Amino acid sequence: MDRLEDELERARALDVADLADAIESVGFECTRCGGCCKGLDGEHTATVFPDEVREVAAAGDLEWRDVARPMPFGLDDEGHGETFEWALQTDACGDCAFYEETPAGSPGDGNAVGESDGVGACTVHDQRPRICRTYPFSVALDGTSQPMGEAVDETGVVRVHECEGLGRDISRVDAEALAGALKERAVREIEEAIGVRDAYAPADPGPDETVVHDSEGAKRPDGTPDE
Ligand code: SF4
Ligand code: SF4
Repeated sequence: MDRLEDELERARALDVADLADAIESVGFECTRCGGCCKGLDGEHTATVFPDEVREVAAAGDLEWRDVARPMPFGLDDEGHGETFEWALQTDACGDCAFYEETPAGSPGDGNAVGESDGVGACTVHDQRPRICRTYPFSVALDGTSQPMGEAVDETGVVRVHECEGLGRDISRVDAEALAGALKERAVREIEEAIGVRDAYAPADPGPDETVVHDSEGAKRPDGTPDE
């Protein structure tokens, strides 16, 4: 059996209660600091799968390009060449295109009018990709995607990434819900990795072209098949 198939079996066998124990022992509550949605030292880069792109696009009546861009790794400075998978689209600041900071409401609330109060919001919260739903946690199995923030801790198979909200109390109910989402994400990520491997066929993009290989085959940057 291939290594990814082994990892998929391990992911499917993960015990949600064990994952919840790990999450509970670390502790977490999102402060909405936006750290996992901003580019910070560079462009925000979070993996988004084809089904997730369509879900976000359908909810907002958006085009594929509004939601996703070719994962930049392996592309040249102009963004041309061949790459694997998609990243959430970014704005001019390099932040996720769906991140917004709440503007201050009025004078006297601690912020000047028009100044951000630094509290972030995801404008596609109900459709946000799995990697966002489960941040700052990931599962340490081959074939899973790693979020942008550096890993700062590891508890069993649960990896913990940079996040302002770590160490805060989390209820058992919330820890179990997060653990369930984390397991579902790990399974889906390894299934996607297997799909990419199986669907891959070398493309031959011209010097000004970009081809993205995902689990559905080779695509152009607008999400249409590369034929
Ligand atoms: S970095 Fe942590 S606290 Fe900040 S928005 Fe992301 S999950 Fe929430
Ligand atoms: S989709 Fe939402 S949660 Fe995910 S990075 Fe963008 S703004 Fe943050």
